[in-house]
Amino acid sequence: MSDCIFCRIIAGEIPSQKVYEDEKMIAIKDVAPAAPVHVLLLPKQHYDNIMTADPELVKYMLGKVETLATQLGVKEKGFRIVINTGKEGGQSVNHLHIHLIGGKELGWPPC
Ligand code: 5GP
Ligand code: ZN
Repeated sequence: MSDCIFCRIIAGEIPSQKVYEDEKMIAIKDVAPAAPVHVLLLPKQHYDNIMTADPELVKYMLGKVETLATQLGVKEKGFRIVINTGKEGGQSVNHLHIHLIGGKELGWPPC
């Protein structure tokens, strides 16, 4: 989708700091990190959010979390994955993405 920021990042039209890529997804550093480690896992195919995405693709992306958490140095200390969905869920970019956040003690609840 030409008007989607994340599709444009995936297409290389907008620069990003990529930490992982394969045929189905990329992971990039969040431009406004909420913690020392904050990356976004993005499927290369556009889905507005988790409600419309192929569950097998979501499963595939979740299957990469351990690899990424290890690569980013947070596997042992702990981290959080977040999928904001819709307006009240805090989703600001309507291209499915999984936040992987860590590197400090995270607060809870998030509201
Ligand atoms: P949401 O609020 O939709 O769950 O998360 C969107 C995330 O995308 C936010 O954490 C925001 O900082 C990040 N973001 C928005 N625009 C860009 C961008 O152009 N590049 C990168 N790397 N992150 C972005
Ligand atoms: Zn998109």
